[in-house]
Amino acid sequence: MYDVIILGGGPAGYRAAERLGAKGRSILLVEREQLGGTCLNVGCIPTKTLLNSAKHYVHAMEGERFGVKAESVTFDLAKMMAWKREVVEKLRAGITAEMQRGKVTVVDGTAVIEENGKVRITRNGAGPRIEDCRAILVATGSSPVVPPIPGARDNPLVLDSTGMLEVEAVPKRLCVIGGGVIGVEFASLFSSLGSEVTVVEMLDEIIPFMDGELAPVLRRAMKEIRWKLGCRVGSIEGAMVRYATKEGVKEAVEADLVLMAIGRRPNVAGWGAQSLGIDASPRGVMVDDRMRTSAPRVWAAGDVTGRSLLAHSAYRMAEVAAQDIDSVLSDGSGGAARMRWDAIPWAVYSLPEAAGVGMTTKEAESRGFTVKTARIPLRASGRFAAENGFQAHGAVKLVTDAATGRILGLHGVGSYASEAIWGGVVLIEQELRAEDLVELVLPHPTVWELVRDAALMIEQN
Ligand SMILES: Cc1cc2nc3c(=O)[nH]c(=O)nc-3n(C[C@H](O)[C@H](O)[C@H](O)COP(=O)(O)OP(=O)(O)OC[C@H]3O[C@@H](n4cnc5c(N)ncnc54)[C@H](O)[C@@H]3O)c2cc1C
Repeated sequence: MYDVIILGGGPAGYRAAERLGAKGRSILLVEREQLGGTCLNVGCIPTKTLLNSAKHYVHAMEGERFGVKAESVTFDLAKMMAWKREVVEKLRAGITAEMQRGKVTVVDGTAVIEENGKVRITRNGAGPRIEDCRAILVATGSSPVVPPIPGARDNPLVLDSTGMLEVEAVPKRLCVIGGGVIGVEFASLFSSLGSEVTVVEMLDEIIPFMDGELAPVLRRAMKEIRWKLGCRVGSIEGAMVRYATKEGVKEAVEADLVLMAIGRRPNVAGWGAQSLGIDASPRGVMVDDRMRTSAPRVWAAGDVTGRSLLAHSAYRMAEVAAQDIDSVLSDGSGGAARMRWDAIPWAVYSLPEAAGVGMTTKEAESRGFTVKTARIPLRASGRFAAENGFQAHGAVKLVTDAATGRILGLHGVGSYASEAIWGGVVLIEQELRAEDLVELVLPHPTVWELVRDAALMIEQN
């Protein structure tokens, strides 16, 4: 009998295993594909590795205006892919070692909950067996959505993000369906490598959770990409994408390859949610703030909950669940940690990057706040101008509650945004006000010292 059986070895599954293993719990972790899940194998890490290669390429080509001339700059896609594989494999080996340190038993197979405390495991290549446990954590992740668009399925020219990570040549023309994070990152990657990229997005703006004033800044910064907003795809023939504009005008993009990136759906089926009567819908498994599901002694964490499909959210959900599981198994009391959703940052690792945390202006107003905001173009930063030129696009925006000065949101487009955004997490988590931010000393010259200038603007208006 194990203390805990974990279904899925992605960020949620392996982080929970690490935490519970460190507490001396006996853990069985079942993973049907590869340790590291979507994030490590076909998500966060491979995309960022390729985007880094693209960044080197772009910098080498653009270096001349900064006094560095490289002749006949080329890239080698096969080598980029090989480096991506090496990074992924080494990091995966690190997770395997971490599991060994925590004495976690890792099984290569598929897990299905039979009943409470009993999990059927079908090993890859062997017959099923039943394992008993005192608690279960469901961390089965999510999968790409394939819409019922004629021509989208079984079309070798229509790939999902996993397929795009294995292409052997850069397509001359790429059509990306979906202007969310994944679509924009791939659009940026392939546009940087020379593809003519068109993004077709059904909504009126890209990156739905991005502040309405900043999304256009990001689009303008990626000026080589053609953005078709408010356009609904009707069919795909080969790599020809037919869509209708908001006005009902029928248009088409002729491409050589199509990326379908309209979103991901929690994996709520196939692991026994129904047999336990767990409250779940296609939008995810319902959980409380300790990640408990509606079934006793069954927790869920990560993308499967549908709450926030991001790896860092998965990590935190797993930590909260692990603490609760350990405490329940010890004395039945339950963990002190609670999952908080208000200050979860997001980042788009396009060239340039974008990141944000907390509320957009629209969101704050819809929640009844009267807001005071400040937006500053990044060219006001000496470092940004020096590194990107005076025409480069980028901006920072601070959203505060006019009544109290409390910081509600921080949003940015420009270099290092993904690295700087954690500062915004602290501001929001600690419920700091613009006047508190003005009191802080930030390093100069940095791009994101402008956050403090934005606070000053709010203070002075
Ligand atoms: C292209 C792309 C780029 C991304 N980039 C980022 C990024 O930059 N930053 C970020 O925060 N997030 C990013 N994400 C999202 C991130 O990958 C996910 O939020 C994260 O992986 C969720 O972790 P998880 O553990 O919940 O699920 P997953 O990582 O999906 O892991 C779930 C695991 O469970 C296994 N599994 C499922 N069912 C069973 C079963 N019955 N038995 C055994 N095993 C099972 C699966 O094989 C899988 O390995 C990206 C995603 C994609 C697709």
